[in-house]
Amino acid sequence: MYLLIKGGTVVTATGAFPADVLVEGEKIAGLFSPDSTPPVEGAQVVDASGKYVIPGAVDVHTHMQLPFGGTSASDTFETGTRAAAFGGTTTIIDFAVQRAGERVPDGLAAWHAKADGNCHIDYGFHMIIGGVDDESLKAMDSLVDSEGVTSFKLFMAYPGVFYSDDGQILRAMQKARDNGSMIMMHAENGIAIDVLIGQALTRGETDPINHGLTRPAELEAEATRRAISLAQVAGDTPLYIVHLSASQALEAVAAARDTGRNVFAETCPQYLYLTLEDQLGAPGFEGAKWVCSTPLRSKHEPHQRDLWRGLRTNDLAVVSTDHCPFCFKE
Ligand SMILES: [Zn+2]
Repeated sequence: MYLLIKGGTVVTATGAFPADVLVEGEKIAGLFSPDSTPPVEGAQVVDASGKYVIPGAVDVHTHMQLPFGGTSASDTFETGTRAAAFGGTTTIIDFAVQRAGERVPDGLAAWHAKADGNCHIDYGFHMIIGGVDDESLKAMDSLVDSEGVTSFKLFMAYPGVFYSDDGQILRAMQKARDNGSMIMMHAENGIAIDVLIGQALTRGETDPINHGLTRPAELEAEATRRAISLAQVAGDTPLYIVHLSASQALEAVAAARDTGRNVFAETCPQYLYLTLEDQLGAPGFEGAKWVCSTPLRSKHEPHQRDLWRGLRTNDLAVVSTDHCPFCFKE
């Protein structure tokens, strides 16, 4: 079955030009300059005149219907992927979850069950390893060998929930080096952050802005640097820093990349456009609408300017969403 997209302006990595696009099944079969397009018997024709024709976006960081804090992310795989398709995103990579004490294959199976038959676009999974031990390390091999999962996410944040200590991180990185997979890292020093949170609570500082104030940029940078060092010790395991938000963390990533290390980072739109003061610091409980971790950063520091520059210089390799919506009433 053929689809012919006619008369549009095709945008590729190298530029924009007028072209017709011929699609066969799910594959692009040809690009033609508009006056040279051959007739295609039985093709469905879409008139794209006056429009851009762009590749489908790949969002490599989503959390559809993630259970969290006694509730669940409000987008299901059905609603989330429908919204994605309307916005031009044709693939997501979501995160299947293993918690400490659970089996990794069970976690992956649970996420397949949520997604199976419900997605309007293509999807794949990263695997969150919330409990690094002998069994979950072994499971990493079988996911790489037979499940099509080649990226494993660890947390330096959230002690008692998803947190891995440095020894666990090193062991998982060594495993990833051996089986050719990649470690993704939520890089924030969760132990220190929990101390700051406890102290803020004791002082009665519970407005939403304190979510940001108790997660300072330096603790993101410290964890980023530590993750980069551990990956080096493990044998230059490919390392991917998720939702990078702070200048100091970016500096660490750029320095590693400058020496040829396999270190990558993503940022997200919220860090490029929103700030600690304007959104998280909104009066009353309004600011709670803008809680995310890593948190929004201060507009009085150069984070946004540096993130935009990081995108231009490719020190930031990816923009993803970390899509994980909750309704205000929850
Ligand atoms: Zn996330």
